[in-house]
Amino acid sequence: MADLSTYSEAELITTEQVKLLYANARASNVVVVLLGILCVSILWGKADHQALLIWLAILTTSVVIRLTLAHRYYSQPESLSNQAFIQRYTITSFMVGSSWGLLCQFIYTSDSLFVTYFVIVVIIIITTASVPVLAAVKQTFMAACIPQIFALFFTLIATGDVDSQLSAFGPLLYFGLMLSTGKNLNRRIIQAIQLEIHNKVLIGQLTNEIAQRERTQQDLIIAKEVAEKANKSKSEFLANMSHEIRTPMNAIIGMANLALQRESDPKQQDYLEKIGLSSQHLLGVINHILDFSKIEAGKLDIEETDFSLHQVISTLTTIVSEAATSKGLTLKFDIDPALEIPLRGDPLRLGQILINLTNNAIKFTEHGSINIHVALLEASEKSLLVNFEVQDSGIGISVEEQQKLFESFQQADTSITRKYGGSGLGLAICKQLTQLMDGEIGVRSHLGQGSTFWFTIYLGRGTEQTKQTTNGISNDLLSSLAGRHILIADDNRLNQQVAQELLQNVGITVELAEDGVIALEKVTNGHFDAVLMDVQMPNMDGLEATSKIRAHAENSTLPIIAITANVAKEERQKCLAAGMNDFVSKPVEPNILYSTLAKWLQPKQRPLLSPSEPLRKSDSAIEKLFPKANDPKIIDIKYLARQLKENPVKVRKFAKQFMESAKRVLSEMEEALSEDDFERLSALGHQLKSPARTVGAIHFATLCQELEELKGEDTNKAKSLLTELNELAEQISERVSV
Ligand code: ADP
Repeated sequence: MADLSTYSEAELITTEQVKLLYANARASNVVVVLLGILCVSILWGKADHQALLIWLAILTTSVVIRLTLAHRYYSQPESLSNQAFIQRYTITSFMVGSSWGLLCQFIYTSDSLFVTYFVIVVIIIITTASVPVLAAVKQTFMAACIPQIFALFFTLIATGDVDSQLSAFGPLLYFGLMLSTGKNLNRRIIQAIQLEIHNKVLIGQLTNEIAQRERTQQDLIIAKEVAEKANKSKSEFLANMSHEIRTPMNAIIGMANLALQRESDPKQQDYLEKIGLSSQHLLGVINHILDFSKIEAGKLDIEETDFSLHQVISTLTTIVSEAATSKGLTLKFDIDPALEIPLRGDPLRLGQILINLTNNAIKFTEHGSINIHVALLEASEKSLLVNFEVQDSGIGISVEEQQKLFESFQQADTSITRKYGGSGLGLAICKQLTQLMDGEIGVRSHLGQGSTFWFTIYLGRGTEQTKQTTNGISNDLLSSLAGRHILIADDNRLNQQVAQELLQNVGITVELAEDGVIALEKVTNGHFDAVLMDVQMPNMDGLEATSKIRAHAENSTLPIIAITANVAKEERQKCLAAGMNDFVSKPVEPNILYSTLAKWLQPKQRPLLSPSEPLRKSDSAIEKLFPKANDPKIIDIKYLARQLKENPVKVRKFAKQFMESAKRVLSEMEEALSEDDFERLSALGHQLKSPARTVGAIHFATLCQELEELKGEDTNKAKSLLTELNELAEQISERVSV
């Protein structure tokens, strides 16, 4: 069926009516001719033969005309419009109906009652049969029936016989009945056609809609794929950027730190401190942007690991205490004792929120103290609801500005940005992080009277007793590192230097490998207490090198610590999956590096002193022997004692030997300096460096190393180093004299 957009509804109905007429045309016309022949044969003995044949000829002719019309329409539908077809079909039907009407002449010409009733029955059958065949078009149906019914009626009236005249009304009444049936049928047919049209229109619309939806769905799938691809590229880009930015930042911060340790000129120190602070600030901003992008990409995940609150607070103190002290602010902690239990959650992200809030508190406070309260609000069998508060006595925030604080890029006041700087992302990230930990964040503040930022998070109960590692580095922890032998695998020379010097500063001897292949070779052929492994390296990356190292049974317990500029969770998981024990992120925070190393080195070399451990008998003996030799800035004889199994006689002997050789080498150094022989000076520095470390004179060893590296013939620097070394030698000698 053609659709409604091309044809009107009336046109479509007419088309359907025509189709119905045509569908019945062939069979009904053939039946009409057959019925005509039957009538002739029945009436053959009762009526005039010629008259009967003429009647049959008339009937057949009109039927043939009607059939021809139908056939023409069927074979060439465009030759006739629907209306024209209906008109002509109605005329030809009138002709067929009239032919049937002519049958009534036999009632008139014959006296037989049989003929009369036979004709009446035939006319009634034809009229009845016309209802289903022609009712699709009302006028066609009427045109076929009226001539025969009225012919019958008038013939019966015209007989003059009263009985026949009375019976003439029977067919008339019957015709009335058929007329109403035909009308009803016609109405139903038209309704059915209309319904069909509407259904088809509806189906058409539905089909269009389904097709449209399918297209939209396809578009959505494509859009989703594109978005996923873009998201993946974005994550990869972020990971790369993280690496690209953190690697040079590591060198800048590390070098500034190292330079600061050696620099005595106050002006240079000031410059170096400022480089360090600005780099830390820049790193903070980069971290914020990276975190924010991760939140945007829905990639910020919360880890589940066992930790202690003490650990988190120690890290916080290490990171923020310098900034607080430099502003004359005190940091006060009030921690609920109920939280001194193993916890489960994400200590890094919790620390991040606390560091951000505390740094803000320090930033916006000029006098007074920063108070950090931690309280347990609710405890169930599995989870704990903990409330953290960071309270300051700073500039405060107006009620109006408090509303917007936790939205991205919001700062309380633009003048604040100018004065204090900042990206306005910190609190938005804190909000996201607390939400990820099922908690909330908020602020109570009065302008000019300080602010209290609070947040709640849900933590799990830890299962194992987490080690109370601390980033506040104790002397004992540092001394546990001295004398260790560590391999650094890193392709970046600057990073190598930073890590190497950080380790050497605490008495660790270092070997270097430029890539994974060399690292693997060195581990296979040598003995190391631990490996610091960069992840991205040429030839063989850190992950592959670790797997290959682990493939040898004897290396199964060797601590391998990743040093990675990529802080993404997936990266860290990859490191662990490859067999690494831990990771330290670049830029390397010295205390974190030391405590991580100590964490993995401690179990291997018991006995080592831990802060809480009482001195054992032999330690006490050493203490008694050298009561003043426990100052790491001058000499901490425990280093030596441990290597000599706490044997007091051996310790005394070695210390004496060291002092003697130190005095000798120092005077040789004076000589070399007076002759401006820097090469010899460097060799002597190298010669004295190692034994100094062995006895626990770490600072002395560092000065020796500086002399060793003093290639640039800087006489003044050499002189000042030598003076310092001589003074230090005096002090050491005094501490170890017995
Ligand atoms: P920013 O990196 O700019 O400090 P934050 O999201 O951490 O970003 O802080 C947004 C703004 O909230 C700050 O710029 C400051 O105006 C205000 N703010 C945050 N903490 C404090 C506070 N302790 N005292 C006063 N104002 C604060």
